[in-house]
Amino acid sequence: MSRTVTIALAGNPNSGKTTLFNALTGLNQHVGNWPGVTVEKKEGRLKPNLKPGEAAGDDVVIVDLPGVYSLSPHSPEEVVADRYLADERPDVIINIVDATNLERNLYLTGQLAELGLPMIIAVNMMDVARARGDKLETEKLALELGCTVAEMSAITGEGVQNAVSRAHSAAQDKNADGKKLPAPPRFGLDIEQSLTRICDAAGLNDLPKHKRRRAAVRLFERNAAATRELRLVPDKQAKIEEIIKNCETAMDDDSESLITASRYARIEEIVGKCWVPAGRGRLSVSDRIDRVVTNRWLALPIFALVIFFVYYVSITSLGALATDWANDGVFGEGWHLAGIGTSQYELAVENFNPESGGEKPEPADYGIWVPGIPVLLGDMLKALNCAEWLQGLVIDGITAGVGAVLGFVPQMLILFLFLAFMESCGYMARVAFIMDRLFRRFGLSGKSFIPLLVGTGCGVPGVMASRTIESERERRITVMTTTFIPCSAKLPILALIAGALFDGAWWVAPSAYFVGVASIVCSGVILKKTRLFAGDITPFVMELPAYHWPTAGALLRSMWERGWSFIKKAGTIILLATVFVWFTSHFGWSEDGFGMVEMTESILAVAGSSISWIFAPLGWGSWQATVAAITGLIAKENVVGTFGVLFGFAEVTEDGQEVWSALGAHFTALGAYSFLMFNMLCAPCFAAMGAIKREMNSVGWFWTAIGYQCGFAYVASLCFYQFGLVFSSGRLVPGTVIAAAALGLFLWLLFRPVKTAGGLASSAQSA
Ligand code: GDP
Ligand code: MG
Repeated sequence: MSRTVTIALAGNPNSGKTTLFNALTGLNQHVGNWPGVTVEKKEGRLKPNLKPGEAAGDDVVIVDLPGVYSLSPHSPEEVVADRYLADERPDVIINIVDATNLERNLYLTGQLAELGLPMIIAVNMMDVARARGDKLETEKLALELGCTVAEMSAITGEGVQNAVSRAHSAAQDKNADGKKLPAPPRFGLDIEQSLTRICDAAGLNDLPKHKRRRAAVRLFERNAAATRELRLVPDKQAKIEEIIKNCETAMDDDSESLITASRYARIEEIVGKCWVPAGRGRLSVSDRIDRVVTNRWLALPIFALVIFFVYYVSITSLGALATDWANDGVFGEGWHLAGIGTSQYELAVENFNPESGGEKPEPADYGIWVPGIPVLLGDMLKALNCAEWLQGLVIDGITAGVGAVLGFVPQMLILFLFLAFMESCGYMARVAFIMDRLFRRFGLSGKSFIPLLVGTGCGVPGVMASRTIESERERRITVMTTTFIPCSAKLPILALIAGALFDGAWWVAPSAYFVGVASIVCSGVILKKTRLFAGDITPFVMELPAYHWPTAGALLRSMWERGWSFIKKAGTIILLATVFVWFTSHFGWSEDGFGMVEMTESILAVAGSSISWIFAPLGWGSWQATVAAITGLIAKENVVGTFGVLFGFAEVTEDGQEVWSALGAHFTALGAYSFLMFNMLCAPCFAAMGAIKREMNSVGWFWTAIGYQCGFAYVASLCFYQFGLVFSSGRLVPGTVIAAAALGLFLWLLFRPVKTAGGLASSAQSA
């Protein structure tokens, strides 16, 4: 008979749940190195080749729960995990325990054991533990915890098969009571007596053993949800409160701390018996690396160097080569292959004499030239005798626009590969830790930095990652500022401006990253000083996983996952926007009525020109730039796509470079950088704005955020451009005065003392 067996993966953040989940299901969930990446639970089916023999007919479903340190419902993840386990009751839990952090991980194990569900412990990261020389006495641990213990390394796949089949059989195991369940931890005598009394007072004795114990413990901890679930009448509640009070007086601590302390005492005892650490005092490789990388003085310079290096390789050097190839070859005229046929071709060119007639030799005839997509499409449309406007739309519109965006795919893939590497080797976790030290000085929590790290890939999950910040004010600040960091969709803008205007200068791309970080820090300081956001900084606790080499497969998968969603976007939303831009930039009203017109008379030019004065003080008041920035609000890639359509239509077939040199001629260097700044900092794309709306959960706050972002971007670009003008040409214009006033206001907001005695003063103390 076929059944469904549900296996839930539960464990601390960073214990390797998602890695295991991906290994088990073959799915591709994001593996992150910080808490909060997996807020929702994820489900997938066990790969058939991993199915244990006796489960052949079963449907085995794997559920990846958010990482939690405990089941006490203090954070959204804890609520999701606790509610799922208690209400939906999976058939078996695989509790993933990080071997390199046994004490901390076993805390959750104790709480899981109280759920009354079959469970096995999968001790993960055994590769790291063994490399350190640590040893685990598996049998002893199994005896202490009353359930199966399996060693595993999710990343190498070692022991994964064994863990599933152990879990599967644990789901079927029966003993005298029905199911074979793990042993819940016992507490000290006083607490145990109080628990028994609570059971009597609350009338829990009819419940099954496990349920009774969990309920009693939760009541003892004064868990509000437990009181609600049991529907206790007030006088029972009063009775229970009296029992708790008595115990608290006797033991001189509050009940929740008493439980926590006993849990840890029990864990210490277990770990002492079962864990044989390698010779103490010897620093592991990871610790030695951390001595340098997280060093008080070196940490920030090293981080800056890493960012420079990553952007330099992916945008300036290697990436630019790849992108030139894509832009000029695939999405341009075509590309030449060196080698085969080259010498014959050169010979033919030498021998070719126009006067004596005959055909001029073409590289294509010698098999050394592959035409680019626009050329191929153009030939095809001509052969099909398509209407001229349709040819225009396809060649000048779609291939120029979408092609311009797709041309950046190689650069993006290289960047994604770097990001994947930094995430999975453990460096990004250090960055959050380093940034916490920096942010704290400015009254922000390092927790705000996690969304920013996620946001480097895409703003949408970045904004969503802010969910894990408990303090509402800090969460709002984070939501408002996360998208200041250049996400991958802004990358093409960066690469374009760097390439077309600054001759591929190495500093352009990394500088955008630092403008982003500076904007966040300044915004944090300014906002924290306003009454809306004042408050204490939440403490930030994060375990640093040991450094390790990621597997090539995981890196490539993560790179492709992001790259593919970029390509999909180019085929959908960017395509639509390009078609729209093409039509509105080629049609308009002239003396002959509505029809195709010169671009300068098109609807788009007219509409763009009517608002482009807004941006003139920023140094880029042309209608083309205005339109590009506005289409960028739909998706940031559109900025590049729009330029492709507006500048590329003339001579794309001559040479792909034409587009970008036409663009280069359109901007001044100052204006271009100011354009870049504005597009990096202003409101993000529709998708990210949607995420902001969801996370803010209020129309007012949503508009506050969007308004703040646009305002900040405007002022920053204005100041940059106007002061740039003053410094470079000594010109003082009315704009300079406005910019000076804006800068003055900004500095005042940044440095003004805080009036209230609370606010920053008290938060500085708690830091
Ligand atoms: P989650 O937060 O529990 O979902 O953990 P992840 O699956 O995101 O893993 C956190 C980090 O640990 C990632 O960088 C993984 O590559 C790494 N990792 C997971 N399992 C292992 C393992 O068995 N050995 C080693 N060395 N690293 C692992
Ligand atoms: Mg995860």
